[in-house]
Amino acid sequence: MANGEEGEPGSAKDRWLLRARPHLVLDGLARAAAVTGAARGVVYLSDPAAGESVRRALAEHPPPLPVEVVETDHTYVAGEETAVVRRIDGGPALPTAKPPRPFERGVGGAPTLVSNVETLARIALTAARPDLRDDIARSTLVTLSGGPVAPVLTEVPYGMALRALADRHGNPGAAGALMGGLFGGLVDADALDLPLEPEALTAAGTALGCGAIHFLAPGRCPVTTAADAAAHLTAESARQCGVCVSGTAAVGKALYGLTAGTAGPDTADDLDRWARGLRGRGACGLLDAAAGIAGSLLRSFPHLVRSHLAAPCPVCADAAPADGRHRLTVAVPEVAGAPARARLHRPSPSPSPSPAPRPLPALKGTP
Ligand code: SF4
Repeated sequence: MANGEEGEPGSAKDRWLLRARPHLVLDGLARAAAVTGAARGVVYLSDPAAGESVRRALAEHPPPLPVEVVETDHTYVAGEETAVVRRIDGGPALPTAKPPRPFERGVGGAPTLVSNVETLARIALTAARPDLRDDIARSTLVTLSGGPVAPVLTEVPYGMALRALADRHGNPGAAGALMGGLFGGLVDADALDLPLEPEALTAAGTALGCGAIHFLAPGRCPVTTAADAAAHLTAESARQCGVCVSGTAAVGKALYGLTAGTAGPDTADDLDRWARGLRGRGACGLLDAAAGIAGSLLRSFPHLVRSHLAAPCPVCADAAPADGRHRLTVAVPEVAGAPARARLHRPSPSPSPSPAPRPLPALKGTP
C-alpha cells in the first residue's frame, strides 16, 4: 500500500510526489508488490489533485497488478498504518490497537506492507538510476516553513546542519524549530547546530519524522507555538482512547494557560508529569506528540516556562486569536506542478560548510 496521507501540519512532500511524480510512486509500488508477492496495490491519499494525478498515471501506464486509489479525509491520524488498513477495509480512518501491526494482519486479515510514498519513490529511483544509489539513500525531502518567507519543499542530503537549512530558508537567527511536523517537538537555537540525521536527532530527543521543519522566528514566542501545537492535537484527537481525550486536552489547557497568563503554580510539574507519563498509552502517536510538545518545551525553553508563570507574556498576548482558540496553521508550499522542484536549485545566500541541497535527479516517467 502506498501511503500518501500526511497528517502532520506543514508537510507537503507526499502530496508533491503524488501530484508531480505519480509514475515513480507507482513503479515503486509495483516493485514492492513483486518482492512481497502482493496481488493488489492501493494508493491511499486525501488530496484530490494527487488522486487525479495518480488516476491519470494509472491510465497512461497500467501497472502489472491491479492498483486502486482509496481516498480518505485529511486528519492527523488518517495516515497512521492501522488507520490506513481500517479505511481500506471500508471502515473509518482511525487507528486500532497494536499488535497486530499491518505486516502481521492487515487488509482483509492478510499481512500488508504499508509504505510511505517517498520510500516507494526512492525504491523506483534507485532501480532506474543505480549509479545514484548512494545519493538517493543519503538524501531526504523536507518541507521548511516559519518566519517571513513562504514554505518550501526541498531535497537535502543527510548531514546538513539545521542552521544551514534555516539560513537558506530565509530564517537566520531562528530561535529554534518545531520538528517533524508536531512529532519531534520543539528544539532551541543551540539545537540548530545538529545535523539532519535521524540518529543524531533522536539522540538529541527530537525527530525528523515526516521531514516538516517549522523554524521559530525570533519575534515569536515558543510557548505560543507549543500551545498552538497542543490545541491542534486536541482538536485532531480521534477520541477513541480515554487517556488521549483527557491527556491531550490537559496538555493543551495548561499550555494555553501559560500563554494567557492564567497558569497555576503547578503547571510546570503537571506538564512534566504528563510528558513522562502519557507516552505510549494511546493507540497511535497523537498522544505521544502531545507529551512530546510538553516535554520539549520544558527541556528546550525552561526559562520561558518560568517567566510565563511569573507574569503574562506580551508576545503571547499579541499572538492570541480574538476568539481565544489556538489552532496551528502552517501554510504548505504550492505543490502543483514544478515550483517546489524549482526551489531546489535556489543558490545558498552564503557559503556554508554543510553539504549543499541537491536537486532531485531526473525521474523515470516524469510527466
Ligand atoms: S491516541 Fe488519541 S488520536 Fe490516537 S487512536 Fe487514541 S484517541 Fe485516537
